[in-house]
Amino acid sequence: MKLLILPGDGIGPEITRATAEVLQSLNSRFVLGFEMVERDIGQKAYEMCGQTMPEEIFDEIWDADATILGPVDSYAYPPESEGGVNPSKAVRLKFDLFANLRPSKVRPGVPAMIKNMDLVVVRENTEGFYSDRNMHMGNAEFMPTPEVALSIRKITREGSRRIAQVAFEKARERRKKVTVVHKANVLKVTDGLFLKEVKVVGEHFPDVELEEVIVDAMAALLIRRPESFDVILTTNMYGDILSDEAAELSGGLGFGPSINVGENIAISQAAHGSAPDIAGHDSANPTAHMLSAQMLLQWIAMRREDNQLGNAAMVMEQAINSALRNPDTQTQDVNGPLGTRAFGTVVAEIIKNSNL
Ligand code: ATP
Repeated sequence: MKLLILPGDGIGPEITRATAEVLQSLNSRFVLGFEMVERDIGQKAYEMCGQTMPEEIFDEIWDADATILGPVDSYAYPPESEGGVNPSKAVRLKFDLFANLRPSKVRPGVPAMIKNMDLVVVRENTEGFYSDRNMHMGNAEFMPTPEVALSIRKITREGSRRIAQVAFEKARERRKKVTVVHKANVLKVTDGLFLKEVKVVGEHFPDVELEEVIVDAMAALLIRRPESFDVILTTNMYGDILSDEAAELSGGLGFGPSINVGENIAISQAAHGSAPDIAGHDSANPTAHMLSAQMLLQWIAMRREDNQLGNAAMVMEQAINSALRNPDTQTQDVNGPLGTRAFGTVVAEIIKNSNL
């Protein structure tokens, strides 16, 4: 099984190293036949070949069984015309990874701001306000005069339907509740279309409760009653913002995993960014990156009906939880003693030595 590993920028190489150690340990215990191939993207690739996302990486993603993508610091890249393509955007577009699944939960031992939460944000990943990727050609953010800046938001019927389908199916595996988050009171046409299509899809899931919440209220309710949410279904930018809020509530950005899912391919990438402020200090929390890889293994296991891989993914999450439960093996972002690398070693050792 070929795993393509793209460490990315900032803390990417550090959290990737820790995750790779865990995956090696999993591979040894469960004999999964992992072949891990690492490739540079982002600033490192730019220095080597003048491209932040070298073209051949796309073929390698097709060839791989799984791709584990690190965070990227696209804000610091040169313009696209000079080789500074944002890899996160490029893979979502190229492989039509329209569903971004971002779970957040309170895990025993992790000092969270709240007592109880177990939800998943299902975020539309290809349209909305993301002006660098929501057009067939050109960019949806522009300046008609030097004093005026405009941005276009795209919502389509099909885009809304397919993400709603994912959310309702996910809810069926969980507590059977979808909360659709929108601003249709103001954005009557765009969010109105989104909401209408969600309701159409919802009619096919009579066993799933559908709740509607306006996005600004949602920012407050997520703090006030996080335990009441199961699946949060929303458009691209609201989902990006609310999932960071949920991760922070659960302990910090270092606890927010995510996978980007299309029809035939999924790519893992933690919800957080490249955190350049702490890069190179061995202080980043690799949990989100590890859990993202774990979600990807689980996704593949389900599609292939591969019990061995599914079991390994389950043990990987249990081992991460076990390390998080112990204050002596927590990371520095939650005032624990461990650096990034040491946390990876602890999780790898738990996989190797425990009978989880
Ligand atoms: P980018 O521009 O790539 O999104 P950013 O620094 O603006 O990077 P994030 O990387 O998402 O945004 O993080 C914001 C802050 O949260 C970081 O500056 C860092 O202090 C903290 N942070 C993010 N991820 C982690 C992590 N895995 N472990 C510890 N702290 C983190």
